[in-house]
Amino acid sequence: MKILILGAGVVGTATAYYLHRQGHNVEVVERHSSAGMDTSFGNAGGLCPSFAAPWAAPGMPLKVLKMAMQADAPVRFSLWPEIDRMRWSLQWLRECSSKRFLVNKLRMQRVAHYSLSCLRSLMEETPIAFDFHPGGVLQLFQTPAECEYGKISAAALTEFGIPHHLLDQAGATGVEPTLRDARITIAGALHMPADASGDSHAFCQSLARWLENEGVKFRFDTAVGRLLTEGGEAVGAETSAGVLKADAVVVAMGNQAPALLAPLGIKLPVYPLKGFSITAPVTSTEHAPNMSVMDEHNKVMISRLGNRIRAAGMAELVGHDLSLKLNRKDKLIRVVRSIFPNGIEYDQATFWAGLRPMTPDGPPILGSCGVKGLFLNSGHGSNGWTQACGTSRVVADLVCGRPPEIELDGLTYERFQR
Ligand SMILES: Cc1cc2nc3c(=O)[nH]c(=O)nc-3n(C[C@H](O)[C@H](O)[C@H](O)COP(=O)(O)OP(=O)(O)OC[C@H]3O[C@@H](n4cnc5c(N)ncnc54)[C@H](O)[C@@H]3O)c2cc1C
Repeated sequence: MKILILGAGVVGTATAYYLHRQGHNVEVVERHSSAGMDTSFGNAGGLCPSFAAPWAAPGMPLKVLKMAMQADAPVRFSLWPEIDRMRWSLQWLRECSSKRFLVNKLRMQRVAHYSLSCLRSLMEETPIAFDFHPGGVLQLFQTPAECEYGKISAAALTEFGIPHHLLDQAGATGVEPTLRDARITIAGALHMPADASGDSHAFCQSLARWLENEGVKFRFDTAVGRLLTEGGEAVGAETSAGVLKADAVVVAMGNQAPALLAPLGIKLPVYPLKGFSITAPVTSTEHAPNMSVMDEHNKVMISRLGNRIRAAGMAELVGHDLSLKLNRKDKLIRVVRSIFPNGIEYDQATFWAGLRPMTPDGPPILGSCGVKGLFLNSGHGSNGWTQACGTSRVVADLVCGRPPEIELDGLTYERFQR
């Protein structure tokens, strides 16, 4: 089969791998000049299935309002009455009950754990390098209230059978010795040793290069204009390089997927949630962290990517605006420096903003959307790097007419059509 994949972020590139592996003629179309240049470029690097949970959670609406009112607020939303944001926010509010949270979390966990095992197999099957680090993730708590939250999370992890340890300050420093330099109060920590980290941009670049050598065509610097259908069936796409025909089309365009699908009457509830990251060189391996650390107090995730540190956080509902705000960079540096004051060249930090393609309930949207030959791999939100290999394997199986290895319940477009 000739298959067109639209978008070469982490999701499109991984989809190309799984479809190529199943023997198909794969062509990837990407507007940028190489793979992984959009949201997959500067994310926090966490490969953290244990964390996978929806942002739509009980108590979250009030928490968001409170956080938005703080000076230096980690959360911000525009009050401009934009229809898409208002519709998405209402759907999100409906998903914030305890019952819905549990349903959605279980769905995300199902994908995320499967995905990490798919990634590990992919690493055995290809020679790609992306600063993968299997050292687990440590969630840090600075207040008694955060420790209580940690206990609730630990109970849920026990229920899901996920390895974890609740630690005090000495225990946290035991697993991540560089915390001995921290200038914050460590009230407690939750260690999830099965999680990992890696650079998703390097993954995309390395995998795309390998796939190109294997015969997969990557058509860079090519913008997709619209989808082409004949008799209700997807037959290709109109692009800046002309019409490209295919037997099947996979949409992996992150935040741009809703606009592409709208003319076909497919209303994808995916809204961009802006975040920021810094990347700084490590100057002393003795002082910079080895494992991923999630500062729960400031909602900042810090990962070691080879000889660099990446830290990311913040959430802004401001449409597709990608402008960089220096106060966000200063805040990220302040937070990381308070935990790891030594061994990192903060003056050399680069700054980035990206848009998480969020569904209101949390899980991604996979597979069929009612148009024959058209497949979705969209809405990966704040866990897209963690979920990409799993969702891409699922979508590749669906394209080939094979039953996926995980249950699809709650992971398809159908849940928004009811
Ligand atoms: C601040 C931040 C921190 C994050 N931290 C983590 C983390 O620690 N762990 C984790 O698992 N996830 C994390 N994420 C989420 C993760 O980065 C995303 O879910 C993931 O990158 C989405 O991948 P994607 O391939 O769907 O989208 P993208 O990477 O955006 O790829 C879509 C591609 O489609 C292309 N495209 C779009 N429109 C067109 C067009 N018209 N024509 C041609 N090409 C087009 C784009 O150029 C792009 O390359 C984070 C995100 C942010 C913003």
